[in-house]
Amino acid sequence: MKLSNRIENVRASSTVAFNTKANELKRQGVDVIAMTAGEPDFQPPQHVMDAARDAIDKGLTKYTPAEGTFALREQIAAKHARDNGFTPDPSEVIVGTGGKQVLYNAMQALIDPGDEAIVIAPYWVSYPAQIEVSGGTLVPVHARAEDGFVPDPADVAAAVTSKTKMIILNSPSNPTGAVYPREVVEAIVKIARDRGLWLIADDLYEYLVYDGAFTSAAPLYPEGTLTVNGASKAFALTGWRIGWGVGPQHLIKAMTRLQGQVTSGANALAQHATAAALEQHDATAAFVAECKKAYVERRDTLVTGLNGLGLKTPMPQGAFYAMADVTGIDADEGKAALKLLEEANVAVVPGTDFAAPGFVRLSYATSLENIEKALERIARVVT
Ligand code: PLP
Repeated sequence: MKLSNRIENVRASSTVAFNTKANELKRQGVDVIAMTAGEPDFQPPQHVMDAARDAIDKGLTKYTPAEGTFALREQIAAKHARDNGFTPDPSEVIVGTGGKQVLYNAMQALIDPGDEAIVIAPYWVSYPAQIEVSGGTLVPVHARAEDGFVPDPADVAAAVTSKTKMIILNSPSNPTGAVYPREVVEAIVKIARDRGLWLIADDLYEYLVYDGAFTSAAPLYPEGTLTVNGASKAFALTGWRIGWGVGPQHLIKAMTRLQGQVTSGANALAQHATAAALEQHDATAAFVAECKKAYVERRDTLVTGLNGLGLKTPMPQGAFYAMADVTGIDADEGKAALKLLEEANVAVVPGTDFAAPGFVRLSYATSLENIEKALERIARVVT
């Protein structure tokens, strides 16, 4: 029996597809080094785990308000006051099942069929799926490797049409690791503000900046910006599924109406633990600093190694991904990724679904030892 046209058009994530292939090989006993995943390899901070246990002991096991507990929304508001130069009211905050679901709510709340969403390419694979399932069209603006994958705001301005509804900004970026300089963020925000477009600031990797500085878009355009952030990347809480959105109250209310009908709200125990992570911010910041130290060392080793092997890789400034030009292995990045998997037993993600032809994405959220071993193996394929 036929499924909906809408769902037929939703593709499975290529990250998941390559992970599945890698896992199949592992099951066959092959020692595969997986550099595919978008999740930290660290355990969450102890005080956050303790808070989760405390939530169970206190019996915080019931449904929460659809928009999230007041305690967590208050902590999120305080976090933005502390870090981002604006102080939202808790009524301007929604908590969802990961940043991904918050983004999905936003697409559903903002996009009508025929609307266009401008996205900087290479982009995270879920943007096209979420935009298309909402009836919209993704309009890519290509950032170039030679510019460190930082977009030219003039290209963004040129992509605006009468159908444009939103611009999505993701800095630090998945998959490129680019951190946009303040003037680039300001210029893109100005385009959105001048044209009356929504701006989605996907700040999931805000705390993972190694060079340069993170710039918050929201204080520059509070009436038109939805800031999306969450616990997954910085606090190593991927499986706990907590993300949040901060924006104008009427948008948050609309997203809450949808969420109330779809999930009834995020996991209660994880909300309690995330509130503790934000409230005990000094302890959490110490944890993040430790992770960053490890990521920098891994990044430097990986990127220097790849460039040394002739695989041109711009130095990422944030997140935990590097984009390597693999045209020296094969002009088709899918074939190059397959060769790396089958001959070097290193799993990477081809750039195809990121709109990055000729590139693969390597995640360095894995041990230094694995990275060094992966480089040795890749060397055998490229030389
Ligand atoms: N945005 C970007 C750019 C991401 O890379 C991810 C996760 O990979 C997310 C949002 C969503 O993360 P989560 O749903 O775990 O909060």
